[in-house]
Amino acid sequence: MTRVINFSAGPATLPLPVLEYAHNEFLDHEGTGMSLIEHSHRGAAYAKVHEEAKSLFRELMNVPDTHDILFMQGGATAQFALVPMNLRGAGQSADYINTGVWSDKAMAEALILGAAREAGTGKVDGKYTRVPKQAELELDPGAAYAHFTSNNTIMGTQFHEYPDSGDVPLVADMSSDILWRPIDVSKFGLIYAGAQKNLGPAGVTVLIFRKDLAERSPSTIPKIFRYKTILDGDSLQNTIPTFAVYMVRNVLRWVRDQGGAPAMEKRNREKAGSIYGMIDENPGFFHCPVEVESRSMMNPVFRLPTEDLEKKLIAEAAEAGMVGIKGHRSVGGIRTSIYNAMEPSDVQKFVDFAKAFAQKNG
Ligand SMILES: *Cc1c(COP(=O)(O)O)cnc(C)c1O
Repeated sequence: MTRVINFSAGPATLPLPVLEYAHNEFLDHEGTGMSLIEHSHRGAAYAKVHEEAKSLFRELMNVPDTHDILFMQGGATAQFALVPMNLRGAGQSADYINTGVWSDKAMAEALILGAAREAGTGKVDGKYTRVPKQAELELDPGAAYAHFTSNNTIMGTQFHEYPDSGDVPLVADMSSDILWRPIDVSKFGLIYAGAQKNLGPAGVTVLIFRKDLAERSPSTIPKIFRYKTILDGDSLQNTIPTFAVYMVRNVLRWVRDQGGAPAMEKRNREKAGSIYGMIDENPGFFHCPVEVESRSMMNPVFRLPTEDLEKKLIAEAAEAGMVGIKGHRSVGGIRTSIYNAMEPSDVQKFVDFAKAFAQKNG
């Protein structure tokens, strides 16, 4: 078996020991004589997985008692619609900090059923190359909530200091950087993240939800779309994607065994540091369009002198067993997604390869 080094933005690489663990017990889950995916979502075997996944989130993200962990489906994209449906009262407006695709999409969904306004932007000369600072935000103290995208997976930008929305609940789409470092969950009304970047496979969305906000869910929307239903049902109001939650649990065990969120931060800064170091040391060949203070530790993006050289780099990297480095089609260039699971030694291999490529082609 030859595994490639997978820099895809999502679904993304997972820790090899996690895949091996699932592989080994796939046919017989903990001696029950059946696969986890054949177990009832209401049975004892799955209940154990569910509880452990939740308690690992609580431990690793230091989630306070005011908040609960919910599992939903429909990806982050469903949350773009569900957040305004549940959290914005009649006649109220919601604030959106715009850092490009994803926050744009979230705001567009909010505008379908009510009012939403842009409370800040990362746009410079038509491009989203930074995140706005606190002093630049124009937050509405009467807003139902303030929404932002903590890491813009496509633009390669990331908030290194989170917005302060005062008493207005702060809502964050953390799909591409949840658990990348320790954070203060108490500052958030809601954090949501599709699992397929930093947590596990596609199929489940994790919510860290401030419980009192469930009272906002209006009875005018269908029950299955109410946060209150999911909270009251412990995410088991209907059949949950059991395998996806199981894989997330396995990834969380791995994060814990590595040393938790502080260890993830150290590892992620080291990886991103070596890629940005390579870029900054070769200014004639590599160029990162993102402002230094807004650079993503998860999805470093960069350009080469020409698009032809970018194509060549992508092709030669693939030959060398490194895939998924093509930038998003809306922005082009190179993107290296280096989530928690990506091994620092594999990033080093890519950096060595890219430096040699610059030497040859510069
Ligand atoms: C990938 C991504 C999404 C979309 O997630 P889906 O699970 O496909 O709905 C939304 N927001 C961010 C920040 C993402 O990276």
